[in-house]
Amino acid sequence: MIASIKKIALVGGTHGGELTGIFLIKKFKQYPHLIQRYGFESIAFISNEKAVEVGTRYIDIDLNRAFNCQDLKNPQLINYEQSLAKKIAQRIQQEKIDLVIDLHSTTSNMGLTVILHGDNPDLLKMAGYLTQTNSKVRILQHELNKQSSYLISSAELGVTIEVGAVANGVLDAKLFQETENLVYAILDYLEADKKGQPLPVPPSFTYYSAIGTVDYPRNEQGKIQAMIHPQLQFQDYQPLNPGNPIFITFDGEEIFYQGDETVYPVFINEAAYYEKGTAMCLTKAVRN
Ligand SMILES: [Zn+2]
Repeated sequence: MIASIKKIALVGGTHGGELTGIFLIKKFKQYPHLIQRYGFESIAFISNEKAVEVGTRYIDIDLNRAFNCQDLKNPQLINYEQSLAKKIAQRIQQEKIDLVIDLHSTTSNMGLTVILHGDNPDLLKMAGYLTQTNSKVRILQHELNKQSSYLISSAELGVTIEVGAVANGVLDAKLFQETENLVYAILDYLEADKKGQPLPVPPSFTYYSAIGTVDYPRNEQGKIQAMIHPQLQFQDYQPLNPGNPIFITFDGEEIFYQGDETVYPVFINEAAYYEKGTAMCLTKAVRN
């Protein structure tokens, strides 16, 4: 419950090349008063210092897939990120952090995406409030299950922020400032709640619920055989209808979306997802 939040952690650098969150967290560490609000405590930390230093997404494995409950208890998993995940999870428990806000960036045109894991109604209301603060705010909802291995799953409540499009290793000043303002809007919303003066939530708003992923067409060796279709590039959160072009081969042959209903793709052509076998995630639009 939002009302019972006593301590928040703002986290950046879970992926070492995502500079927006990294430089924001550095700023918050230097000027901690920026994130202090009435009614709860806020701390800020870089989660994967070594990857940040090297300027790479991760050292051994993706840190944001290393927080599975079973994996955290498994003493045989000791590579860099596996060990780091155990330390971070322990810290979140020991410091009694109720809410983690993990700041990411993406090469996809995701605007200011607020990812909710699960269906906590309080967080959904907060996200609804955020859609009024900047027209680029989108709400993406994922199911949270026992296999969840995201960093945010180590706290009771978690929100992942994905901003883009921006390349890895690149700072975009406008996106930096918009992300900063989004963080303040979250803190202000929680503070107003603590003061018993809740900020207005729109009576109705749209969120996008994840329904699956689509991989690139591949050959038997697993090598990709086509690219994101130019008409789909940067069209995150736009409707994709059955029969619309989705991929194009290196010979220029178009491949069309075969589904039987309109979907709203996100994470289209995210650089880090080539290795995960994900060309895009599909969502359905839900009117709340
Ligand atoms: Zn990331």
